[in-house]
Amino acid sequence: MLIAHRQPTAKVVGRFAPSPSGPLHFGSLLAAVGSYLFAKQRAGEWLLRIEDIDTPRVSQGADSLIMHTLEQYGLLWDGAVMYQSQRIGRYKAILEQLQQQQLVYGCQCSRKQINQAGGLYSGSCAKLQLSGSKLSWRLRTKGVATDFADLLLGQQHIDTALAREDYIVQRRDGLFSYQLAVVVDDWDQGISEVIRGADLLSMTPRQQHLFTLLGAKPPAYGHLPLAVSAPGQKLSKQNHARALSHWPQSYTMARALEILGLPLPLPLQHAPAAEQLTYALIHWRPANIPASSEVLTTDFV
Ligand code: GLU
Repeated sequence: MLIAHRQPTAKVVGRFAPSPSGPLHFGSLLAAVGSYLFAKQRAGEWLLRIEDIDTPRVSQGADSLIMHTLEQYGLLWDGAVMYQSQRIGRYKAILEQLQQQQLVYGCQCSRKQINQAGGLYSGSCAKLQLSGSKLSWRLRTKGVATDFADLLLGQQHIDTALAREDYIVQRRDGLFSYQLAVVVDDWDQGISEVIRGADLLSMTPRQQHLFTLLGAKPPAYGHLPLAVSAPGQKLSKQNHARALSHWPQSYTMARALEILGLPLPLPLQHAPAAEQLTYALIHWRPANIPASSEVLTTDFV
């Protein structure tokens, strides 16, 4: 398959990449608003990608619901929506390339075995040269750089065992992993700035590393504070975060902007969300985002 990567230009290209496992919740609104403002303030494009690669977790119709919600908030994306489920051939070709370069290896260990051994994969299959269909494929992470300059959180040092784990790029059931898909998609869409929640901070070194292995230049990364209902408890579908539609849009947009460092003047606090967003386009400053990776927001559960 011939792939035309978007040629890197001076133009800023950002993105919002929700997983359609349910309707948007407040945590996803923060990521959407932060990435939108960051791109649009720089006269950039803001793309939408539906990360529906993990098919068992996809909820039917959630993609349309997400798009409808974004439109209601005035978060209008540029160009066509990318769906990961339509890009399997591309991921396959990348995996084959990694296999030929021996940058990945087949692994026969089950999740259960790995959990019993402490939860982190030890690399035990790395030298076995396994082949066959009942394998997962793992990327050799040797050489992952542990330091990077985050656009929002400043200098980071992520030298954890997780960052060094040989991670899965294709699962045993044949599904491609988020880690592989996100890098190939950010590359193909010509993303220049990835602005997303701080829950993905620790994944950044491995994603930068994979970019480099593929011969591409990684985008810049910036991580927004994560909305948590208790320390370490991010708002998510698994943690029963309510859908955004539970609150008036003007309230959730105003709260999102406040958390992102822009408390709205009183007269604007009840204005339509799209109007609040227009105000933020002029007045928001990324430097005012609190430099912390978590914010406690007990009002959204
Ligand atoms: N699909 C991921 C999520 O909804 C986001 C991936 C990313 O921004 O890199 O959490």
